[in-house]
Amino acid sequence: MDVIADAYDAFLFDLDGVIYRGDEVVPGAPEVIARLREMGKGIAFVTNNSGRTPDAVATKLTGLGVPAEPAEVETSALVTAALLADRGVSEAFVVGEQGILQALRDAGIEILDGDADHAQAVVVGWDRQADYTKLRIASLLVERGAALVATNDDASYPAPDGNWPGAGALLAAIETTTGRRAEVVGKPHAPIMIAALERAGGGRPLVIGDRLETDIAGAAGMSWDSMLVLTGISSEDDVATSAVVPTCVAKDLSALFEPRSG
Ligand SMILES: [Mg+2]
Repeated sequence: MDVIADAYDAFLFDLDGVIYRGDEVVPGAPEVIARLREMGKGIAFVTNNSGRTPDAVATKLTGLGVPAEPAEVETSALVTAALLADRGVSEAFVVGEQGILQALRDAGIEILDGDADHAQAVVVGWDRQADYTKLRIASLLVERGAALVATNDDASYPAPDGNWPGAGALLAAIETTTGRRAEVVGKPHAPIMIAALERAGGGRPLVIGDRLETDIAGAAGMSWDSMLVLTGISSEDDVATSAVVPTCVAKDLSALFEPRSG
């Protein structure tokens, strides 16, 4: 009997709310990933979080019982660095954490310090050390002609005690100041979706996530199928009122092995 997973070659997994919640694995997730691997399916773990390196993500997954390689991890930081390097950008001022700093350096892009008065690009990601000085310098550099590129535009970062300002909130300060709109790399925008499918080996993709406005909207923008799992942020009520509609809604990842209907 055919199961849902049989219909796809590449499985693009969001992380938080899908594989784990904070520091705890979502029950059943390790078995689902292991079974997809046995079936020989392509897998990519796709995150908008530009703060963490692929090594750190793979180490966390492996520690939670989901053995993973850094090469299976697509981050908005990696895609941002590749996009800028492709365009010949060799220096950037960065509002961001270790993941994006390392990805840019690995791509041969010099990180400018706060004394810079010009830059080819200003890169904005999630940054828990962001302060007025950084936002001021970033805004001035954009006003003087730097390209404005954001790893992602998530409004908030869901923390155990509530929502913290996300990369999008920091970006909003610079966009509001300069009147310029950023080019955004992360979900739901196309660059990370395209890179993630390539990383998973291509073929017919299924995007699996817990957020309508990032994971599911990203799939819809590419005309790809998606599965919304109810183990994270979005609820069935959200689906009922959403302009973005997933191909299917599932209680959890085990739905991948339910019989295909229709
Ligand atoms: Mg998520």
